[in-house]
Amino acid sequence: MDFQQFNLHPQIQAGVEALGYRNPTPIQRDAIPPVLEGRDVMGLAQTGTGKTAAFGLPLLTRLVPGPRGKLRALVLAPTRELAEQINDALNAMGRFTRLRSITVYGGVNINPQIKKLKEGVEIVVACPGRLLDHISQGTVDLTGVEALVLDEADQMFDMGFLPDVRRILRALPAKRQTLMFSATMPDDIRKLAQEILHQPVTVQV
Ligand code: AMP
Repeated sequence: MDFQQFNLHPQIQAGVEALGYRNPTPIQRDAIPPVLEGRDVMGLAQTGTGKTAAFGLPLLTRLVPGPRGKLRALVLAPTRELAEQINDALNAMGRFTRLRSITVYGGVNINPQIKKLKEGVEIVVACPGRLLDHISQGTVDLTGVEALVLDEADQMFDMGFLPDVRRILRALPAKRQTLMFSATMPDDIRKLAQEILHQPVTVQV
């Protein structure tokens, strides 16, 4: 099987080819079709399985045709390092599009983030705490968010971000696509998944 069969947007397919990906990994094979259809997905997968492209390629495909300069996809990650990795991957997959992804996390000056958010981006990859700062300061507009990705959800909970994640969820449009990825499925993740995912497709590798 190759990536052609997914019917990704041609600009995203070109990104895949530039990255040198030839064959989809198991999580990509199983997650890309439902994400392309707009379904919610619960993905049980560790880092290294190709999960970033499993959600990134179909999400970007869905974002290419829409309006520009409005925040339309939000990815939440537990650490700055992961946020940077995801952001780099999304910008690489989308390099033949005009979509822009930026990171938002704490421990660095907030002003460059405010400037970029004001200029208009389609994708934000954020750690929960700093995103909440932007929400309370009114420096991020979440009203156009069509898709939310919670990456490494189990890590997020181990690090105590559950209350922050819940606050962010309350600030997002109820009608959206939600994707959750976690290496493990402890009770609190299962519970959150039941609350926030609508008839999800579960993908396990
Ligand atoms: P991830 O699990 O998303 O952190 O990805 C792990 C690594 O695998 C990254 O370096 C990706 O660039 C790479 N990768 C993802 N999908 C593929 C693929 N289909 N073929 C080859 N490499 C891939």
